[in-house]
Amino acid sequence: MGYVKYDDRLSVLPGVGEKRASELAALHIFTVGDLLCHFPRAYQDRGQITRLVDAAATEERCAMLLTVGAEPTSAEIRRGMTIARFPAFDESGRITVQFFNNKFVKSIFHVGGIFRFYGKIEKFRGRFVLTSPEYEAVSPGKTLPDYFAVYPLAKGLTQKLMQKLIAGALEMLDPNLPEPICDDYRKRLGLCGRREALFAIHRPGSPQELEKARNYFIFEELYTFALGVLGEKRQRADRSAPVIACEKKVMDGFLSRLPFAPTGAQRRVIGEIAADMRSGRPMNRMICGDVGCGKTVCAAAAAAFAVADGYQCAMMVPTEILARQHFDDLSEMFEGTGVRVSLLVGSLTPAKKKQVQKQIAAGETDLVIGTHALISDNVAFKKCGLVITDEQHRFGLAQRESLAAKSGLDGMLAHVLAMSATPIPRSLALVLYGDMSLSAVDEMPPGRQKVSTFLVDESYRERMEGFISKQAKEGRQTYIVCPSIDDEEDEEDGDGGLVDIFGRPVGGKKLRSAVGYAADLAAAHPGLAVGCLHGRMKAAEKDKVMSDFAEGRLDVLVSTTVIEVGVNVPNATLMIVENAERFGLSGLHQLRGRVGRGKYKSWCILVSDDPGEEAKERLETLCKTNDGFAIAETDLKMRGPGDFIPAELGGRRQSGQLRFRLANLCDNTDMLLAAFSLAGETVGGSSDSENIFQIM
Ligand code: ADP
Ligand code: MG
Repeated sequence: MGYVKYDDRLSVLPGVGEKRASELAALHIFTVGDLLCHFPRAYQDRGQITRLVDAAATEERCAMLLTVGAEPTSAEIRRGMTIARFPAFDESGRITVQFFNNKFVKSIFHVGGIFRFYGKIEKFRGRFVLTSPEYEAVSPGKTLPDYFAVYPLAKGLTQKLMQKLIAGALEMLDPNLPEPICDDYRKRLGLCGRREALFAIHRPGSPQELEKARNYFIFEELYTFALGVLGEKRQRADRSAPVIACEKKVMDGFLSRLPFAPTGAQRRVIGEIAADMRSGRPMNRMICGDVGCGKTVCAAAAAAFAVADGYQCAMMVPTEILARQHFDDLSEMFEGTGVRVSLLVGSLTPAKKKQVQKQIAAGETDLVIGTHALISDNVAFKKCGLVITDEQHRFGLAQRESLAAKSGLDGMLAHVLAMSATPIPRSLALVLYGDMSLSAVDEMPPGRQKVSTFLVDESYRERMEGFISKQAKEGRQTYIVCPSIDDEEDEEDGDGGLVDIFGRPVGGKKLRSAVGYAADLAAAHPGLAVGCLHGRMKAAEKDKVMSDFAEGRLDVLVSTTVIEVGVNVPNATLMIVENAERFGLSGLHQLRGRVGRGKYKSWCILVSDDPGEEAKERLETLCKTNDGFAIAETDLKMRGPGDFIPAELGGRRQSGQLRFRLANLCDNTDMLLAAFSLAGETVGGSSDSENIFQIM
């Protein structure tokens, strides 16, 4: 008998013809390796033998060691349906075993034969019966395995068949199976080899063996992933990019115009950026740091470097509100320097848009801030040396690439600088940004105050509204965030808030709506200037409301999460989040970061009526800590990675690309780091996993 190899087509296996192959294809099984990596979804423990009296008393399936008490008899109970039965016993009792339409019963079971049965005992007309159990003959000198694999199936396939196919493939498997992970590394990590792991995952001899096998495959999976990520990073790093001088006098000039002194962390990050941009290799760097740490300044410094050397710079942000805010801030930072800043967003008039596109193409503008409008077909840069993305999470690779393709650099790649708005756990940082270098702004500007955070229920509503009025009387402003837009709203198409903490759509309990709340609040407090902002408004309307709030003409802004990213109103001191249980912790932390940006004492009030134990525990984390990374870790543990993953990678509901088979980002962090470190050695060059280790 010849051996089969991992990459062989399934047809090398006996019993796999065209029909079977197409059934297996439905499970994405095409090769012997695919088949062997079709891991069990569960294991039956048949080693644990249950006595009949105990088996009869439980609803569970169990294994029983029974002796056949009499030859089987069969009867036709109706046309086309025969039943074969026989009695079987152990020292504790006696039952009837029965099979339907099974012609082989009489030839398999004989008086005195001992079998291990696996199934569920039921009571039928006063008698205990075991219907269609699984069975194995017990014979002297032969030991039966304790654990039985149960596989995911597709149409046309049965457990028995799957077990047989996989057992066959294991038997025929090449004894010299290549090991993807070198011996040395496996030894260091205490991992078994692939061949051993394959046998053990399909037929574990003990829970410990299974654990070992799983550990092996978890590592292999993470390592394969890391290789892909670092391979991509390597490829990019091999291209060339504009050499930007990043002169000290440019930096000093830029910094001296700021109304504040940069923090040490900001200076260091600007230094890291400058080193990349001077290198002639494309920068691919992510600035991480908690809300309000001042990432924008670092990005603006990078833009100043690029523009000083005659390159354009594009800054892409996820929402129009944020684009406008950055446009205002950066215009101010660059005022009087000759740097030409422009805005390109979807809501510009066609004529204005055309004008900006023309300026971009002619090199008559230096720094363009925009939304996805920047990657429209009509945009082509004269010479764009730097692409900055400020993102709630991350723009897809495709989007960055398409922006880079319009850079007008003749085959060179533009430098890429990303700002991550959410602190993320280090395991996820590797997964999402493993191909990037990371810079941490790990120091807050001086004088920032801690935002006091409270969790309250409906009974506080009156006091809370009194507090809003008090803030307004003192000249301060309040944000109120609601999970839905209006009361009539269809549950399915909200702003993404209408799911429970596990991402399941929910009906039932009424959610606070922005439109409804704004109307109620204005009616109850005629002295308050209340505005409302949500995703279904026209851009111009949104803009008007936002600038009314930013310029102090509104006391209260009631909104959906459209304000989540980036807006900056230092005079706002109170953030109220309704139905707080609907939001992820990192999202709430972001929202909280909207206040406490000025010199005034600030508060965040999370309103949640009867959130349930788990949600309560999550929300209390937020009251206790202001540390974005700690919050992100908790969020990942309790809600899974969905919240951190950008929509185009699958996001919230289906985290497609990041769904590992066995590995789990919460529990396998150490293995993930080890996988990146080994992949780094394999691909060559540093993996940055240590870098990530340091910052988080
Ligand atoms: P984020 O990192 O959340 O994007 P921003 O860049 O929006 O933070 O900065 C938050 C606020 O802090 C802005 O108003 C900005 O002007 C201010 N800021 C940034 N750096 C400093 C600093 N070194 N000293 C004082 N204020 C600063
Ligand atoms: Mg920001």
